Amino acid sequence: MRCLSRPRLCRVLPQRRSPGCCPQDRRSSSAALFQSHMPTKTTCPSSQVSDDEQKQKRENTRSLTMSGHVGFESLPDQLVNRSIQQGFCFNILCVGETGIGKSTLIDTLFNTNFADHESSHFFPHVRLKAQTYELHESNVRLKLTIVNTVGFGDQINKEESYQPVVDYIDAQFEAYLQEELKIKRSLFNYHDSRIHVCLYFISPTGHSLKTLDLLTMKSLDSKVNIIPVIAKADIISKAELQKFKIKLMSELVSSGVQIYQFPTDDETIAKINASMNGHLPFAVVGSMDEVKIGNKMVKARQYPWGVVQVENENHSDFVKLREMLICTNMEDLREQTHTRHYELYRRCKLEEMGFTDVGPENKPLSLQETYEAKRHEFYGERQRKEEEMKQMFVQRVKEKEAILKEAERELQAKFEHLKRVHQEERMKLEEKRRLLEEEIIAFSKKKATSEIYQNQSYMASGSNLKKDKDRKNSNFM
Ligand code: GDP
Repeated sequence: MRCLSRPRLCRVLPQRRSPGCCPQDRRSSSAALFQSHMPTKTTCPSSQVSDDEQKQKRENTRSLTMSGHVGFESLPDQLVNRSIQQGFCFNILCVGETGIGKSTLIDTLFNTNFADHESSHFFPHVRLKAQTYELHESNVRLKLTIVNTVGFGDQINKEESYQPVVDYIDAQFEAYLQEELKIKRSLFNYHDSRIHVCLYFISPTGHSLKTLDLLTMKSLDSKVNIIPVIAKADIISKAELQKFKIKLMSELVSSGVQIYQFPTDDETIAKINASMNGHLPFAVVGSMDEVKIGNKMVKARQYPWGVVQVENENHSDFVKLREMLICTNMEDLREQTHTRHYELYRRCKLEEMGFTDVGPENKPLSLQETYEAKRHEFYGERQRKEEEMKQMFVQRVKEKEAILKEAERELQAKFEHLKRVHQEERMKLEEKRRLLEEEIIAFSKKKATSEIYQNQSYMASGSNLKKDKDRKNSNFM
């Protein structure tokens, strides 16, 4: 693939989570095509075949020479033609603090203005913003997705800064895996949103890496190809820059951060890649401004004391980055993403789901057998759960019964107590009534006696009165 000089730009709908790419997208030239079809040096856990099996396969394959032209030598051309028709896709993740120069560098790399809005330092959370563009160079179409980390490094809590990035990368792998696992899958025309490269922007402090840088790179290095770059390299002196580069690399090594290494297994590019590995991290300068140098307009940053030319290798590593990222290793980055990072995600995910390539005693296990074993395990588990629930139900019923019986006993005791109290009260009342009746009888007796006395006295007083009257009458006469 040749470097972009003047790409035409047309915008594709914004995609936060665009699906995966067709496998043939991973080829860009006939060499790359063959490379991507041949077994790579990367160990792919799921495709590990034992030495014995490989030996047997070799013995079953005979090498023959044909006596005339057949025509399959045109296979590379057929593949190149088809790939050109289908186009390619490449996804870049830019991780770095707000204002570190991410958008400017991407514009400079692809020699176009992606018109990304300036972001603020005041976002409460890190947000990943993906935008897809379609670029054309000669007859090659490139669907380019740029994912920017908005608000990165602006949070106090470091974990809040890098976790959304990790989650985003995983989400793209998950989308691809889900498509792969579908019965009716369409990987052929599927837009791959898996991140092929992460450009990690380091501040040109001249000191050392920040904790956030180390934490982020450490949590990303098994998921994505990381290319660290020292941003705004024009603000640090040449001598300081060299020391800074050495310091950064030793810090990365001592922290066990694995950055992407340009491959050296293809002898056509081994030499350049090996020498470029020694220049990492690239110290870059970005600018879309053009300044006249001699009789040529060049991209540069102009200062009162001079001009920093973006593409001048004495001024910055921009050209090295562009060559390595776009012209030489774009295909390898895509392949590493598929064969290393995605494969690792897929393996862990499938193992998490209970799938395995080998059964007990290390015997190979087919998908069907794994499925049957899983189904068996599931039914066993379900039965165990059912039994557990039944027992729990019986236990609960027993407990409830005991509680009810206890309540019944208590009620009975209460009833007996009340009955006793009632009985006692009744007896007391009976006693009172008897006493009252006796009092009434005594009273009645007293009353009767008093009435008799009263009558007697009345009668006595009546005869006295008559005698007095008779006496008065006789006196009068
Ligand atoms: P982003 O927020 O990370 O995308 O940062 P921008 O690309 O928007 O850049 C922020 C500011 O840094 C702008 O004023 C750019 O002109 C400036 N800038 C970008 N690249 C460089 C560079 O390489 N050197 C210097 N000195 N300034 C730069």
